[in-house]
Amino acid sequence: MISLPQAMQKLIREFSRLPSIGEKSATRLAYHLVNHDKQLALSLSDALRKAAESVKLCQRCFYLTEEDLCTICKNPSRDQSLICLVEKPADLMAIERVGEFRGLYHVLHGLWAPLRGQGPESMKLQELLERLKDGVIREVIIATGSTVEGDATALYVAKMLSDFGVQSTRLAQGMPKGGELEYADDVTLSRAFAGRNLINP
Ligand SMILES: [Zn+2]
Repeated sequence: MISLPQAMQKLIREFSRLPSIGEKSATRLAYHLVNHDKQLALSLSDALRKAAESVKLCQRCFYLTEEDLCTICKNPSRDQSLICLVEKPADLMAIERVGEFRGLYHVLHGLWAPLRGQGPESMKLQELLERLKDGVIREVIIATGSTVEGDATALYVAKMLSDFGVQSTRLAQGMPKGGELEYADDVTLSRAFAGRNLINP
């Protein structure tokens, strides 16, 4: 990259830091924006700055919001006694896309992955327990993906909830094995919710 202008080198370096973007893709993106679509480059830069400055995590469920609480937590017509527990915002979006679940959510922002050095403290678990204290929640649907880490997390959380006296259920089989929830199709997701199973840790 020695013969490239410094600003271009920096742009390519920054793109390469994104997940699943290698140096080749980074270079292609940088060339496209700078040489072929300056307008897009500027509006992208504007959108990035605005999102980075204004989007934060909901204080209750840790989904994305521009206010203290997200639109789901603020909606009084959602079932306040039901929480669906997901790994990440994209999983919540997949479930909302199906449009059948009418309860609330809790986004863990991680999974229990001891092999990668991620313990329970790397998830928003204490915050979940806080939400259970007033006794309004009667069921937590554990909707982590059916990966090794998703299953391990589900068992860990179910045990914790049972100690807390709250019933937990797991999405039914039929989810793609080893699959990430965010990539499941609508019919599969809908069936998995309808056929969810009680967990007895
Ligand atoms: Zn929320």
